[in-house]
Amino acid sequence: MKRGDKVYEGKAKIVYATNDEQYRILYFKDDATAFDGKKKGTIVEKGILNNRISTTLFNLLAENGIPTHLVKVLSEREALVKNVSIIPVEVVARNIIAGSLAKRMGRPEGENLAFPIVEYYYKDDSLHDPMINRDHVLAFSLATAAQIDHIKEMALKINGILRQYFLDRGILLVDFKLEFGVFNGEVLLADEICPDTCRLWDAESLEKMDKDRFRRDLGKVEEAYLEVCRRVCAADGV
Ligand code: UDP
Repeated sequence: MKRGDKVYEGKAKIVYATNDEQYRILYFKDDATAFDGKKKGTIVEKGILNNRISTTLFNLLAENGIPTHLVKVLSEREALVKNVSIIPVEVVARNIIAGSLAKRMGRPEGENLAFPIVEYYYKDDSLHDPMINRDHVLAFSLATAAQIDHIKEMALKINGILRQYFLDRGILLVDFKLEFGVFNGEVLLADEICPDTCRLWDAESLEKMDKDRFRRDLGKVEEAYLEVCRRVCAADGV
């Protein structure tokens, strides 16, 4: 598959066309942003680690019956994916209180939720991705009822699979963000799942192993991503 023109450049990835309109190439960058792009930086080799981590997790999910956009890994920083039409809803699943939920509910980070929560955010940077509910999704035609109900079901199933996979590797899956896209009428898991888009805590020390190290200037950012990659991408865990 030949890499064609750049069709879109996001904060962490570049999307390239290919010689087949059905496919795109994702290129994972080292750029890191936080707080709506107000904080910018570089996490050395992040693109390589995120491509490895994300494609490992997408393959795991595909083996467990979740349809995804991933076709195959092309290089250290590139993955071949199906050219989906992204549904403009960011889907967040949560197991433990942290981040914006802790702030919104006035609770400390670290408390287990009674059951996993799924939230929706309207994907629009200029509006700072406002939180929305199922009614907004339908009233603004962001997705059909069948699509959003299927998406919620998939998000919970993905949470169950990933939570156990991470736990087997000594990591707590606190929360994470998913994106879905439509390809030939089917809803597929798209985008990426990596330490940029998940909160991951070491199960023993509760040390943060994700982008919060960058957001909150905690140091050892590269080391944390490398350690997640070491644990997640090893065939048999730790
Ligand atoms: N998240 C993300 N992209 C976003 C917003 C959130 O990947 O634009 C992830 C974030 O890394 C965390 C989860 O979604 O794992 C929940 O994020 P939260 O709502 O707590 O917002 P944050 O504290 O990151 O602003």
